[in-house]
Parts: sequence; C-alpha cells; structure tokens
Amino acid sequence: MAPPRRLLARLRETMAAGAAPLPQLATLIADELVCEVCSIYAARPGEVLELIATRGLRPEAVGRTRLRVGEGIVGLVAATGRPLNLPDAQNHPAFAYRPETGEEPYASLLAVPVRRAGRTLGVVAVQNRVSRRYADDELDQLETAAMLLAEVLAAAGATDTTEESLGAALPRRFQGAILAPGLAVGPILVAGAAGSVQKVLADDIPAELARLDAAVATMQAGVDALIAASAPVGDAPREVLDAYKLIAADAGWLKRVGDAIRGGLSAEAAVHRVADELRDRMRRITDPYLRERLADLEDLAGRLLSALGGDAPPDVIVPGAILLARRLGPAQLLEWHARGIAGVAIEEGSSGGHAAIMARALGIPVLGGARGMLEAAEAGDLAVLDADDGLLILRPEADVVSGYNLALEARSQRRAGYAKLRGVPARSADGVRMRLMLNVGLAMELDQLDETGAEGIGLFRTEIAMLARGAIGDVAEQAATYARVLDAARGRPVLFRTLDLGGDKLLPGATPPEEENPAMGWRSLRVGLDRPASLRRQLRALLLAAGGRELSVMFPMVATVAEFRAAKALLLAEAKRVRPSPERLNIGAMLEVPALLWQLKALLTEADFISIGSNDLMQFLFAADRGTPALADRYDLISPPVLDLLDHVVAAGRAAGRPISVCGEAASRPLEALVLASLGITNLSMPALSILPVKALLADADLRAFRAMLDSLRAAEPSDASLREPLLGWMREHGLTVE
Ligand code: PEP
Ligand code: MG
Repeated sequence: MAPPRRLLARLRETMAAGAAPLPQLATLIADELVCEVCSIYAARPGEVLELIATRGLRPEAVGRTRLRVGEGIVGLVAATGRPLNLPDAQNHPAFAYRPETGEEPYASLLAVPVRRAGRTLGVVAVQNRVSRRYADDELDQLETAAMLLAEVLAAAGATDTTEESLGAALPRRFQGAILAPGLAVGPILVAGAAGSVQKVLADDIPAELARLDAAVATMQAGVDALIAASAPVGDAPREVLDAYKLIAADAGWLKRVGDAIRGGLSAEAAVHRVADELRDRMRRITDPYLRERLADLEDLAGRLLSALGGDAPPDVIVPGAILLARRLGPAQLLEWHARGIAGVAIEEGSSGGHAAIMARALGIPVLGGARGMLEAAEAGDLAVLDADDGLLILRPEADVVSGYNLALEARSQRRAGYAKLRGVPARSADGVRMRLMLNVGLAMELDQLDETGAEGIGLFRTEIAMLARGAIGDVAEQAATYARVLDAARGRPVLFRTLDLGGDKLLPGATPPEEENPAMGWRSLRVGLDRPASLRRQLRALLLAAGGRELSVMFPMVATVAEFRAAKALLLAEAKRVRPSPERLNIGAMLEVPALLWQLKALLTEADFISIGSNDLMQFLFAADRGTPALADRYDLISPPVLDLLDHVVAAGRAAGRPISVCGEAASRPLEALVLASLGITNLSMPALSILPVKALLADADLRAFRAMLDSLRAAEPSDASLREPLLGWMREHGLTVE
C-alpha cells in the first residue's frame, strides 16, 4: 500500500519548522486521521512507558501516566511489537484505567509500536468516541507516522530504551526450538542492528527511484556472486539458493518499494515499510513453507538496504560470535557462516525452513522461536547458545560459561576421536552389528555418505528438493534426481520415501485445503492415493532411475493395510511397464500412524520392511504437535508406554522375518539410539552430523547390560515416567558419555 502522501507532506512541513515538536506531531496525526485523540508514549528505564505528548487527553497526564511494558493496551503493544485495533478498547481484557487521562469517552483505539533498529522506543495511539474498527489505510498512516516518530524520539533522546534498564545487565534465558543442534559460546552480534532509517521522507522522488534501481542491480549481482561463490564450496544446498535467486528477481515486492517511494518515502524508508508489511503478513500465515518464502523476501530487503548504503553488515570478521536475528534467509546464513559465526538464534523460523536446512548442512547450531531475545540483547554481550537443549543464555553467570566451555572442549576432543571411526563398521561393545544410515533430501547432501561412512540412505525425503525448487519435476527430471542418488550410493541401500506433501509442506501455488488440523489432514499418501497420477509419475521415475538396480520404496503416513496395498498396487503396475526391471524391488511402509500398530501382522505379510517415523508417531501417539516447542519435553520416547510399543513392533517384525528400522529424529540422538539398539532395532537412519556420535556411543556400550538395566527400570518406575534421568545416571557411572 502506498504511504499517505498528504500526511507525509504535512509531517515534512512540521519537521522543517524545528526539532522534535512532539505535541504538534500528535495534533497533526490526530487531524489527518480524523481522530479525537493522539497520544505518544516513550520507553523509560525499567520497562516502563510514559505519556510524553497528547492531543485530546488531559495535558496534566503528560509525564504522569506510566504503564509497565505488558500493562494496558499500550503496554501490550510495546510488549508484542504488534498493532492493536480495538472498537471497544475499554472492555479489552488488557485495558488499564488511568483516571488522570480522562479517556473514558473514547471507545475505539488504534495503537502501533514505535520501533527503530529492532527496538521498541514507544507507542503511538489514536482514539475516537464512536466505536469503530480502523480501516487498513488508517493503520498504514499511523505506522508511517510511527516510523517518523521513531527518528524524532531517537534524535531528541526522548526515550531511554529498555535495554538501558537495570534488568539489562542480568542474565536472561530464552527457550526456543532446536532448528540445528550444537553448542556455542561467544559474543553477540545483532543482525540489522544498524538498520535504522536516517531520512524517512524523500526530497526528490525521481532521484530516490534511481537510487532504488541502482541498489536492486547491486543486490541481484550480489546474490548471483554469492551463489557462484558457494558452488566450489559444495556444502550449501544449491536448490535452496536457486529458489532464493528467483525471489531476488521477483518484481512484485520491488514494485511495492517503488510505489512507497512515489508516495513520498525515501528509498530506505520504503524498503523498511515493505519489509514491515511482509513481517505483518508473515505473522498471519500459519503455513511454514510460505512463511519461509516471506523470510527470504525479508532477507533480500536487508540486502537491498545494504546496497542503498544504509545498513551494511560490519566488515569485521567475528569468529565464534553468536548471531541474533529476527529471522534469517539462506543467503544471509551463508554469508555469516563465511564470516565465522559459531551459532545463530532467531526469533522466528521453522525447522523445515531454508535457513534451518542450510544450517544443518553447514553444521551451525540454530535456535528458533526465541521470542523477546532481541529486545533483551546488546551487541557484544556474551551468550551461550545451547541448541542441543533449546536454550539461549544472554550474559550468563561466570560458572555457566566455564561449564559450557568445558563441555565444548570435551566435545571437540570427542569429535577428533570420532574421525577414526569413519571407516569402521558400527558395532556395540558386546559385538552387535548396527547399520547406521543417512537421512537426506537434497542432492547436495549426498557427499555426506562418504564423509560419514554411512552404510546407505535410510530415508530419502523426495519432497525436500521439490519444495526447495518450488515445483514437482516431470518424470524425466525426477528420474535424473533419483539416479544421481543411486549413483552416489554406489550399491549401498537407498530407501526412497514417496512424496510427503501437504500439512506443513506445501508447494508454492498449491491451495491448501481448509483444514482445522492439517497435520492430520489430507496429506502425504492420502493425496497420492486420491490423485494417483502424480504418485504414479513419481513411482515410474524411481523405477527408471533404478534401471535394473535394486530399488527400495516406502510410503509415508500409512494408516491402514488397505492404503498400503493400494499404494503397492500402483508401484507394481508401474513396474510392469518399466524396463529393465529392478534387480530387486523392496516395498515398505513407514510406521507413523498409531492405528497401524494393531495391523502389523497383516501389514507384514505385504510389506517387505517397516521404518518407524518417530517424529510423526510420537506426535500422533501423544496428540502433541511436533512443531510446538512448549510440548517438546512433555513426552519422552524413553518411557514405558513407547518402549512397550517398540517391543511390540520388534516382536512383530521378528515373527514375520521382516526388518524394522527407525528413521525419525529419535534415531539421531545418541541416548535414544542406544535405547533403540538395546530393544533390537539395529538399523537406524539419521542426519549426517549424528552418525559418528551415535557410532561412538554404541562402540562403548554393552547392549546386553544396558538392556538389563533398562528392563529393571521399566519394572520399577511408575508406568508412564521418563526413564531418561536414571539411564543417564547409570551411563555416567559406567563411563559412557552422551553428547
Ligand atoms: C517422521 O515422521 O519421523 C519422519 C521421518 O518423517 P518426516 O519427519 O519427514 O515427517
Ligand atoms: Mg513423518
């Protein structure tokens, strides 16, 4: 939406008249928005907001009315950083009555945060007597005014931002989701902290448009150069960057920036404005894939600002620093990686997001969803990023730092020891042979087969490359991808999982069905069976790729034997048409839906193998969304109900003479891997980084002794309790170290 020209023109006139005329600005905003009240609140030390100017409320309230961040509507807007548009503000649960303001007559209220460089400096609010919801263009006007106010407040030193409050020196802990595991201790870098707009209004609109054009060209050249430079490195998933490049050239958002300049904003302010709009839209989108597309756009907006010269990332190389950002796109991550950062914490972002995929490939720990940390962080502060435990500690206590440094030291020593395990077959201390396989989804990850010494690919997620590229390839393209995978495997087994789209994994342009619970909705194999043409094309591509070699295919989200039978029939029908036939065709089912647990006997007469998808199985077993960080520790695989379930599956596999493997994240965690191995599941598939740590722990562990202890715990503990702590205690006593 183009910014309101008239409001901008009047703001410019007022600004030209002198420094920080806040009461005039309040009057002007009230007039332009046709509101009876306009009030400006500024942040004060101690997380407090103070009324510093008003048109319409009682003048004596200025300097007196104070609200804590989080208190009242204004405090809520400051705390969340989001606008509130309320037709009946006084009946909102957060409303805090302040008699000195005389605001009783005003029913409706629109309040927006005044933010600059990622910090909330205050809040601006308008009010009217009549009860009404403010229109989108009114919100837009108030947000534009807030941008300008941010500069005025900062220039006049009218605020003491919350980071100067007493609490800012104390340690702060933030929980988040583990997007890529790992540990880092180092000073903080805040991405985009320099990104404030020096000049909001355009003096010369054609000149600003020309600056924008030049900056767009620089940005696009920069993205091309980055992609070219990453090629020989070979450790960044290429498809991800290609998708990003497409967005860099997308005209839609660039046009919006141009429109905002034509409306009277400077080029920098226009980029910020569009990025703000995107951020706002992003908050309302629940689909993680689309959210990531918007994250890419925001990342590019940051590059555009750099190209405009206002927001260049520092040239200093800060090896070992921990980068804090609202969110991060894949290209930014790559750049920061090249600068030597040791870890990343972002306020938003999902584990299926591009930056997370990239971070796992690069081995950078990333914590996501750590909300509020940007407000509390100060560049240069020391931080501990414990992305194994989902924790960021700002300004940690000295003891905590030395504890983590010791853990890091021990870990790097252990890692050095792992290297020698690479070519050695995985075996437990008591001689049980294990098969450790890789989970991959991008062609770029295939190098990891040799790097880790994995024995094959236990889960090839066929949808990942398609999501990164934004489209399902035709049969020939798909066949070429799968053939590359089989070539790279050089005879080692590869289990291809057919498309697992839907739910949280949507291709761009696909209209998601309106569903209350997409994870349990029309997704995965259900879509494949209802729209068999696409599934058949994929199966044909897999058979063509095999070209006479052994082929293993597994179907995700199987809920009934009938579904498995139908999917298998499609594969067999395609197999009749494709020549040469695979040397051997193995057809399996993923065990992810609990209902299948009571159909194992029948299933195993038809399936050649079962692979347990513990991510979805745990989610459905405990009715606990796998993407909700607050639920992450609530249910444990290492607890009697799940262990009983696994015993049941292992017994069914043995009775039928069919192999059972695990390819969910559980297999990648050393303790879980040990538990699974002790239950008799000797085929485990996991991301590359876990192979050597799991192999090392298994090599030290006597599975029989471990199993005996596990059984005694199962007999002794209440039937649903997690056995993790007692197991860890036993392991410590027996000199077994778990990362
Ligand atoms: C699982 O659910 O455990 C699994 C391996 O599949 P995905 O994580 O791709 O849903
Ligand atoms: Mg799954």
